[in-house]
Amino acid sequence: MSNESKKFLKTLSKVEGLSVDDLYPKSIHQVEDTVVCMLKGDVDSLFALGSLALKFEGKAHNVDGIPYVIAPLTFKNGQVLRALFPFTKPIPVLHKQRSFGLGDRLGLATEGHARVFESYDAYPIFAQQSIRELALTHRTYEDVLDAASFSVFKVGFTRGFGADGDHLKKKKDIEYALSLGFTMITLDASDYIRNDVNGMTDEQVDQLVSLDEHHKERYLGKVIEIEKHNIEITEIELKRAILVYGKALAFTNDIYQTYFVNQKASANFELSIDETATPTTPIQHYFVAKELECYNVKLDTLAPRFCGEFQKGIDYIGDINQFEKELEIHAAIARHFGYKLSIHSGSDKFSIFTLIGKHTKGHFHVKTAGTNWLEAMHLVSIKSPTLYRSIHHYALSMFDEAQKFYHVTTDLTKIPNVDDLSDQDLPLLFKNNDARQVLHITYGFILNHKDDSGQFVFRNELFNLWKQESSTYSDLLYTHIGKHLELLYKGFNG
Ligand code: ZN
Repeated sequence: MSNESKKFLKTLSKVEGLSVDDLYPKSIHQVEDTVVCMLKGDVDSLFALGSLALKFEGKAHNVDGIPYVIAPLTFKNGQVLRALFPFTKPIPVLHKQRSFGLGDRLGLATEGHARVFESYDAYPIFAQQSIRELALTHRTYEDVLDAASFSVFKVGFTRGFGADGDHLKKKKDIEYALSLGFTMITLDASDYIRNDVNGMTDEQVDQLVSLDEHHKERYLGKVIEIEKHNIEITEIELKRAILVYGKALAFTNDIYQTYFVNQKASANFELSIDETATPTTPIQHYFVAKELECYNVKLDTLAPRFCGEFQKGIDYIGDINQFEKELEIHAAIARHFGYKLSIHSGSDKFSIFTLIGKHTKGHFHVKTAGTNWLEAMHLVSIKSPTLYRSIHHYALSMFDEAQKFYHVTTDLTKIPNVDDLSDQDLPLLFKNNDARQVLHITYGFILNHKDDSGQFVFRNELFNLWKQESSTYSDLLYTHIGKHLELLYKGFNG
């Protein structure tokens, strides 16, 4: 402990009976003459001592003639913290060799996540939510940012992290995320991607598209060499690609020119074309990349829709040999155009992580989201079997409704009846893919379920439990996300 910290603790003891046990040990940070730390409490708060303490909103006092403030964890104080301690402010991380997104839906997971990234050099994106996730969890981007900033401050994670406005489709949402200093925008172009083209005959496609000279010149009658791969595009494949992606490309160009060209925003720019029924073939990936190059759009990452299925919260489903073959070409195309491949719905894809590490040569962005929610429910099954059982029943009852929003192939008959399981066996449900998916896709319903008098049925009890058991939650995440990283690194570390 530094002399400054010792002096700080000595002064602290003269303040409202506070002692070292009242604060998080790794949260003591100093800037100029001011020391700031985080105090434990039913609701945590910041404690700032020194001349800069007065920047925080909260009650101001004096000790030995030095001002101090006990500051609530508000957005305004978050902004002060981010200004005083740059490591609590998100940075663009997609240009780092490796990055990893962790959508912390509950605002409780960053402590556990941060422990993983003490041991791996990949840069984490601790703040990452889509607008749909915000709506279902009743959160705002202000909350999401604060949860990340306050957590890294609390645990002393100083290496830097990113903030991703995930799967944004509208200008107003992009502006919202950028205005708060989010350092990455994931543009979701899926509304402009045509899903009906795969079902069309060649004749139908042929009639709908007439090629201009630029398209012919760029693609037809040549072998395009990308590393060791030869890409050849036929006229009909080109026409199909134009039909499927043409509008999405124009939309991407519009967004890029509005917000990103000439470093207008310092945020990174990712294009996602994954949330669609149409898998991105390597040829189509090349087409999308080449067209964007012609528009002068510079991507930092691109998320194709790979072959096979990337369902929520479970391992990859599909032909792994075909996946590997296509991944190799996707990765080569990304390198050729100077961006990183982004792998979405990356939660729990254990059978392909090592291939991803290998073929991207360790240059990747992997995005996970719901798996930290599943670990939070896993915790409930361990610590509060009764609560778990009633949530489980409720989740099953809402499954049909929830299924409308997700593509899953859940078989409810494969889930054992929770009333027949002993308390000790309940956590085993988290090894059952069908149970995982039910709990995964019903998170919004579970968190928002209210009784007739308008009271939350599960929400408050859940948050109390999660807060009380935060160190077990952190352990679960450390193990579970750690497994993701371990396998990814195996692919390029040998
Ligand atoms: Zn996605």
